[in-house]
Amino acid sequence: MKIPFNKIHYTGKEMDYIKDSLERHQISGDGYYTGLVSSFLSEKFGYKNVQMTTSATHGLEMAAMLIDLKPGDEVIMPSFTFSSTANSVMMRGAKPIFADIRKDTLNIDAEDIERRITKRTRAIIPVHYAGVGCDMDTIMTIAERSKLYVIEDAAHGLNGRYKGKYLGGIGHIGCFSFHSTKNYVCGEGGAIIINSEDRELVKRSEIIRQKGTDRGSFLRGEVDKYSWAGLGSSYSPSDILMAFLYAQFKEIDRIKNKRKRINDLYYEGLQEFVNSGIISGMTNIPLECESNYHLYYLILDNENNRDKVINELRKRDIHSYTHYEPLHSSRMGISLGCKRDDLPVTNMVSKCLLRLPLYTDMTDEEANYVIDNLHSILKVI
Ligand SMILES: *Cc1c(COP(=O)(O)O)cnc(C)c1O
Repeated sequence: MKIPFNKIHYTGKEMDYIKDSLERHQISGDGYYTGLVSSFLSEKFGYKNVQMTTSATHGLEMAAMLIDLKPGDEVIMPSFTFSSTANSVMMRGAKPIFADIRKDTLNIDAEDIERRITKRTRAIIPVHYAGVGCDMDTIMTIAERSKLYVIEDAAHGLNGRYKGKYLGGIGHIGCFSFHSTKNYVCGEGGAIIINSEDRELVKRSEIIRQKGTDRGSFLRGEVDKYSWAGLGSSYSPSDILMAFLYAQFKEIDRIKNKRKRINDLYYEGLQEFVNSGIISGMTNIPLECESNYHLYYLILDNENNRDKVINELRKRDIHSYTHYEPLHSSRMGISLGCKRDDLPVTNMVSKCLLRLPLYTDMTDEEANYVIDNLHSILKVI
């Protein structure tokens, strides 16, 4: 049996909505389906202002522009994340400051954030790894005390919760991804959430998204023509992609429950290896969090054993992967003056972690096949 690492889930309605969007002749940005997916997100999750974007990367870039980051500013974020988290602030000339992660959730360590705050710090970007929420109460308290913005990189996190609140709607700004590797997809896509009653801030974000124009105000009939109003770029996705995404949103909880089923099979099937110490950790959901089951990881006791497990699984046609190479020790990180040995938990996790196959259409039989093979591999390691 071949078990791929990921497989895109189609709900079956995607083509119908795409066909409808073509027939409506509104295939550029902010057409009929963009309206539907934005309202879906505000209604289901209670977000104040939702704007669909071409990607999470572009959402993060918009956020960096919106809070007016400047050269010399510093932004604290984990090193255990995707390059986009750091690039978004570097593109404004600001500097990413990398904090370590917690061993239990692999999310940014709030104590380490505090140690890294300086007079230049302007914002914190927590990343909700695996769809499990960061310690947002502590992070928001730290941010309030030092007057910092909190931009949630919720690329993994749609439909996950922290203390009952949906991820992406807790900080000042939140960013989501609908890239094919995430839970809800449209190929390439994203959203930015502005959690503020400040109309001026929202208007400015619309200008940034609409190529520096006040087209948003024009579409609402507030001005009779639109013109150049500020700095901006082209961040609104084609309505064809939003039609695809709408099909996925219609099944949003069914998709989550199907992933939960696989998560629970892995958890029960592999728990004995955590108890016996062969694996030192696996996906862990604290009581205050509700996951969206984005990914399932194991942490082995050393890099050698991690690589061995990946290879043994591969021999059986089961495809597992490592995850982020830490940003601080990457070529770019070193060129920014970061020290390779800094951030011990990040370094350990990146060497010892592997991600198991997890996709919405995975069957019990497939998950049990992965578990059975792991049993035979881990018993002789
Ligand atoms: C996937 C991902 C991104 C980028 O998302 P895109 O929509 O592909 O731009 C950013 N941050 C994290 C943590 C991610 O996993």
